[in-house]
Amino acid sequence: MVLPVVAVVGRPNVGKSTLFNKLIGQRLSIVEDTPGVTRDRIYGKCEWLGREFMLVDTGGIEPESDDIILSQMRRQSELAITSANVIILVTDIKSGVTSTDMEVAQMLMKSGKPVVLCVNKVDNVGEPPMELYEFYNLGLGEPFPVSSVHGHGTGDMLDEVLKYLPEISAEEDDDEAVKVAVIGKPNVGKSSLINRICGEERVIVSDIAGTTRDATDTDIENEFGKFVFIDTAGIRRKSKVLETVEKYSVLRAYMAVDRADVAVIVIDATVGFTEQDSKVAGYAHEKGKACVVAVNKWDALEKDGKTMNEFRKKLENDFSFMSYVPFVFVSAKTGLRVDKLFEMIRYVKEKNSVRIATGKLNEVLAYATQRVQPPSDKGRRLKIYYMTQVSTNPPTFVFFVNRAELFHFSYQRYLENQIRETFSLDGTPIVFKIRERD
Ligand code: GDP
Ligand code: GDP
Repeated sequence: MVLPVVAVVGRPNVGKSTLFNKLIGQRLSIVEDTPGVTRDRIYGKCEWLGREFMLVDTGGIEPESDDIILSQMRRQSELAITSANVIILVTDIKSGVTSTDMEVAQMLMKSGKPVVLCVNKVDNVGEPPMELYEFYNLGLGEPFPVSSVHGHGTGDMLDEVLKYLPEISAEEDDDEAVKVAVIGKPNVGKSSLINRICGEERVIVSDIAGTTRDATDTDIENEFGKFVFIDTAGIRRKSKVLETVEKYSVLRAYMAVDRADVAVIVIDATVGFTEQDSKVAGYAHEKGKACVVAVNKWDALEKDGKTMNEFRKKLENDFSFMSYVPFVFVSAKTGLRVDKLFEMIRYVKEKNSVRIATGKLNEVLAYATQRVQPPSDKGRRLKIYYMTQVSTNPPTFVFFVNRAELFHFSYQRYLENQIRETFSLDGTPIVFKIRERD
């Protein structure tokens, strides 16, 4: 499911992170408890009146910086404009309207994106203070008085945000097109690959006021089908200020993955696997996305007949936390196997969407539990009565068992392997849920 994005923008100290934390509430800590999730405090899921969206605190990206405030603000605004559906501009009743607020308001207005004006630190409930009216001068319409510390006023402000939020299904108009996020650490060749795929000459139009479709995405149609490459402009426009801050690119990658069906994780063959690669890949894995690893710069390696197999073996070990992921050895420079990459993207997307009949699943289950007995503890043995697939993207299975605590990880692993083998489920994470039943 693709969630819309709401970005919080504003000068330092107006209370952006306080507001962010208030709106995210306890939900974030639940996510943080999930092992393996690299979670930034600046990006989290938020819900209001049954509608869900992702909230981004653009100010949380550069905690301390020698930059002048205005260039920080420019980066924040650019990120918000290119990636958010709605922008919350936070100001401060105590400092009043400043010239920086004015500049930012102008920048945001030019983009045509909906902006909701939050006037923070209005801590007293009751009649809005006179100072509030000054904020009409920003030209952004009604100012919403809020106390981020106490939570007052956040409801009215969120009501306003919801007015501009697109329906979740709105972006999924073209069901046929596979949405692809190309991710990876700096210098692995993402922009080269995107340029190879999308064609150098293609002009990217972005930030155009009033465009409904995300102008940072690129549509591709070829013999392998229809594809949408997400946030290609963000990857290509790396010379701009935005990408000089590492955290922006990480956040952009997360946001791209959230919107994607398939994550193409690019790594550099001349460097090999690094910790940072596993972080990027881990996010796609946790989000249940179909994944392909593109081993780029394959042209630059000295090779003999064994190189690829040896490389693959090593990678299989490095990527053991997502053992299902296929590898494609490509070169953005020469175009080597870029067609194969398209084929794999399609393939893993199909696997991510697969539906397996309950009858077939239980046949495999019966066979597997016969071959290797379920574990037991203190005279009680695990009984698995039944399993069924409850959803797709990623394929999610529910097991009905007598005692959940007997269903050890190693036995789950065993069953996962059996299921993967039987139904050739590679290229996608799969999820197991356990329910107890007597
Ligand atoms: P940021 O730099 O925009 O993220 O601002 P912070 O969230 O770090 O807040 C800056 C300061 O303003 C902190 O000392 C907060 O406690 C304070 N602050 C934030 N929201 C409110 C509010 O609603 N009322 C009051 N009185 N202070 C607030
Ligand atoms: P990004 O930071 O991930 O977008 O990486 P770039 O696309 O900017 O590439 C980083 C460097 O690697 C550049 O100097 C590219 O010319 C080089 N590069 C990218 N792809 C390839 C490739 O397939 N083969 C070789 N030999 N160099 C490449």
